Amino acid sequence: MTMTGALVPFAEAMQRYEPVIGLETHVELGTRTKMFCGCITTFGAEPNSQVCPVCLGLPGSLPVVNQTAIEYTIRIGLALNCTIAEWCRFARKNYFYPDMPKNFQISQYDEPLCTDGYLDVEVNGRTVRVGIERVHLEEDTGKSLHVGGATGRIHGAEYSLVDYNRAGIPLVEIVTKPIPGTGADAPVAARLYVTELRDLLRGLGVSDVRMEEGSLRCDVNTSLAARGASQWGTRTETKNVNSLRSVERAVEFEIERQAAVLDAGGRVKQETRHFHEDTGTTTAGRSKEEAQDYRYFPEPDLVPVAPPRDWVEQIRAALPEAPAARRARLRAEWDLSEADMTALSNAGALDLVAGTVAAGASPADARKWWLGELSRRAHDTGTELTALAITPAQVARVSELVATGTLNDKLARQVIDAVLAGEGGPDEVVQARSLAVVSDEGALTTAVDEAIAANPDVAAKVRAGKVAAVGPLLGAVMKATRGQADAARVRELILQRLT
Ligand SMILES: [Zn+2]
Repeated sequence: MTMTGALVPFAEAMQRYEPVIGLETHVELGTRTKMFCGCITTFGAEPNSQVCPVCLGLPGSLPVVNQTAIEYTIRIGLALNCTIAEWCRFARKNYFYPDMPKNFQISQYDEPLCTDGYLDVEVNGRTVRVGIERVHLEEDTGKSLHVGGATGRIHGAEYSLVDYNRAGIPLVEIVTKPIPGTGADAPVAARLYVTELRDLLRGLGVSDVRMEEGSLRCDVNTSLAARGASQWGTRTETKNVNSLRSVERAVEFEIERQAAVLDAGGRVKQETRHFHEDTGTTTAGRSKEEAQDYRYFPEPDLVPVAPPRDWVEQIRAALPEAPAARRARLRAEWDLSEADMTALSNAGALDLVAGTVAAGASPADARKWWLGELSRRAHDTGTELTALAITPAQVARVSELVATGTLNDKLARQVIDAVLAGEGGPDEVVQARSLAVVSDEGALTTAVDEAIAANPDVAAKVRAGKVAAVGPLLGAVMKATRGQADAARVRELILQRLT
């Protein structure tokens, strides 16, 4: 550890300092083929099976721009309220790295495709307008695997393997303007910005936006200045923060660390930092003060990109409803409070509930199942709601079976367990496990009589007018019917017998 080992508790840091944050987000586009060649882009394929002379940078090969990638980038730019360039060029960014076969990356430099937009983000009840500096298009690098070291990093590794399947996949970089004025909400604002951006990109259908698979990656910039200071502080750039929660933690940690540096009369160094998921801390990486010169120049192997205005307008006209507008519409349709809607959004359950409602469930039931029982299951197994092995249509069916009296809540939970365990759809499970509610009055009456006979003391109390003492009898009947009786009906039957 260096002199930056000390931290100032977050709340204390906020009394003296004002943070400014900024985010650079990389999104792998979901095009079928790569940015400059026809190689396919399926995730998780055999290493180096999706490569060709172009994406391996072999001499004499020439790139050709993927039109769908341009269209997707324009779609993103328009959804972020950007200006779409009438004419722009790709540029070569020159640097040496083993996972970059050409030893340069085709990117965009001073002529990005989209500029000067914004995204509104709701943060603790107020709208923060996040300025978008630029949206540009580039190609992804390959992937290095460092083997033999303790950390998986190159230092200490015995050897490294390189997989070029990812090299050349279209990558969009979305860069915000500095975001001042969020104060103590800065860490949350950073997380909510990325969340909103992810939902927007998913809605646009341009990427599968899976942070865990690296198709959405964030660099988080943080700086601190003394409250009331006329200038912003020096920023650090925390690289490749790979979950929404980590975005928030990275900002929080940097604020606590930088406050300690400034308190000690030190100077925050402009540098890139690495985020460590396990400890929630950052450590120093490259210093920006000795940053390399990428020697950008216009890419000579590609013609400029000049998207026709009528094409841009067609893309604009076909944009889907923005996430914020959709949330407002659904909230009205479902008659939910703002807090309920926020809970749904935060749980990532909005699309699931919408799908369940579309499949016939009431909004209240759909919300209840996804935010209650299913959220608990997801939490217990450490998965996302969307990764649970149950579809919105199946949840709607369970809800319907409860509404029609075939299942009670307890049986419904058993059906859900079985569906999650892969035993089939709700109807198959109900049939295979004979889980339907016992509604045969004869069978229920027999069970009630047996329970009364077996519990004479309790029965006597109820007969004497202590209706509240009915519990053990009810329990006995439910046990006898393996929980498959309608409890309200059983209670009625017991009271009919005893009062
Ligand atoms: Zn290729």
